[in-house]
Amino acid sequence: MDSKIDKADAKVQKIRERKRRKSSEDRKVGSEIFDKITLETLYKLANQDYLDVLNGAVSTGKEANVLKGITKNNNYVAVKIYRIATSDFKKMDYYVHGDPRFNIKTKNKRQLIYAWVNKEFKNLKRLHNAGVNVPEPIVNSNNVLIIEFIGDTKGNPAPPVKNQPPKDSEEFFNKLLVQLKKFVHDGKLVHGDLSNYNILNQNEEPLIIDVSQSVVLDNPISHELLQRDIKTLVNEYKKLGVKTSYEEVYKYVDFKL
Ligand code: ADP
Ligand code: MN
Repeated sequence: MDSKIDKADAKVQKIRERKRRKSSEDRKVGSEIFDKITLETLYKLANQDYLDVLNGAVSTGKEANVLKGITKNNNYVAVKIYRIATSDFKKMDYYVHGDPRFNIKTKNKRQLIYAWVNKEFKNLKRLHNAGVNVPEPIVNSNNVLIIEFIGDTKGNPAPPVKNQPPKDSEEFFNKLLVQLKKFVHDGKLVHGDLSNYNILNQNEEPLIIDVSQSVVLDNPISHELLQRDIKTLVNEYKKLGVKTSYEEVYKYVDFKL
């Protein structure tokens, strides 16, 4: 558990308990990890019943924190919060500007992050509707994305494959390839950052996450990203003992525009 995040959780809860009043005291409430806008966004989502309690950190990444949330109906959700201060804007700019769905004119950092979060939501929606094994998106607002929590009923998150390799890597890899092909053919997207860090092992079923950078097939960089994704996977699964090759997987996925 990250004690900083726990402290921030407590603050979010405290804000919720308080009556809504626009006092300067309220506006002053800050935290080491959440800025004012993030707190206000969480507060708004809580008022809209998307969230009741934040219950600790699942992951503290380079650009985002993932927290476990609990709803009023006692369901778990994953709350992904992008940090405004430390995000990689060059990368976001590169991926967002090649996407015809997002005609981003702004160079404003905050707006770019919001577009990025919106892109992750839309990508998840599209993939989920196409039947790809991804978390179902619930809502996004500003730099906050709430999605289906992947884990057990006790609230333990499913581990990334990197931390918990499959029991039968051959079988798992085959299931993963089915998902990868579906991702491209039915979701009509290329992941762009596919590796065992972004594949969860949910009871020996592969679940793909972290699709903010995923691009539509029309994007001029899609083919290159797919080739890179396949290379990464083939390397990782060879190390786990799977007999496979780049050519075999590339042929199976059958990329065409
Ligand atoms: P980033 O890599 O940009 O920090 P990810 O979306 O990959 O963000 O999430 C980081 C980590 O949080 C994942 O490796 C995983 O352990 C956990 N995680 C992400 N989404 C979920 C989810 N829906 N359910 C459970 N755990 C999740
Ligand atoms: Mn990730």
